[in-house]
Amino acid sequence: MIDLDGISKQYPDGHAALADVTFSIPKGAVFGIIGRSGAGKSTLLRLINGLEQASSGTVTVDGKAVGALLAPDLRSLRQRVGMIFQSFGLLANRTVAQNVELPLELAGVPAPERAARVATLLERVQIADKADAYPARLSGGQRQRVGIARALATAPEVLLCDEATSALDPETTRSILELLAELNRERNLTIVLVTHEMSVVRAICDRVAVLDGGRLIDTGLTPDVLSRQAAADGSGLAGAEA
Ligand code: ADP
Ligand code: MG
Repeated sequence: MIDLDGISKQYPDGHAALADVTFSIPKGAVFGIIGRSGAGKSTLLRLINGLEQASSGTVTVDGKAVGALLAPDLRSLRQRVGMIFQSFGLLANRTVAQNVELPLELAGVPAPERAARVATLLERVQIADKADAYPARLSGGQRQRVGIARALATAPEVLLCDEATSALDPETTRSILELLAELNRERNLTIVLVTHEMSVVRAICDRVAVLDGGRLIDTGLTPDVLSRQAAADGSGLAGAEA
């Protein structure tokens, strides 16, 4: 589904954020990307939805090389690859419903259909009672539900999650992870979950890749990788929260 082949990324200041990273994310997986701060996790996610271009190597989503896409194809890629963030990224001057509606407006969906789809999405993430509230009035968990609904608006096949639960308390984290796991099962949604929290990986990821200083140091089934990393002192997980 998503193939990273020999990916390197240098930012214009010359900083090497990723070096020769190769791995694949199977369709329908809940795939974790872990590593300490600065390891290159967010950069990797942005390469998958074409927000950033690799310096070398190829990122392929559904058989299409992301780096080679021109504007119209990039727009359609971003409809198929949704994203949620630690900081939620909601627009403060739009209500919950209007935030979720935005990607449908951008995709040119007619107004009556938009309203119906927004209502269904808000029901699905259990936030329908807040449809007319502004984000400032919501808790962190509620805001992330809105972020998820907005990301799902264009019916993506992939959901990229960048530290999506890192601003949430443990109880709220559990409920958001549960929602993500349900969405994965219901829609065969491929979830790529960047985190520095091992508990998050243990809770929902079937597979995981470990980045350290821009390099892939391990990847495989979650229990295998976690036991190898626990045995290897000074690994990419050192300093990550248990
Ligand atoms: P992570 O998400 O694992 O914390 P990032 O992908 O954000 O890591 O960053 C990887 C490295 O690239 C870091 O050293 C960071 O400072 C650097 N970096 C990230 N974004 C930029 C940018 N836009 N310009 C220059 N350097 C950047
Ligand atoms: Mg990051």
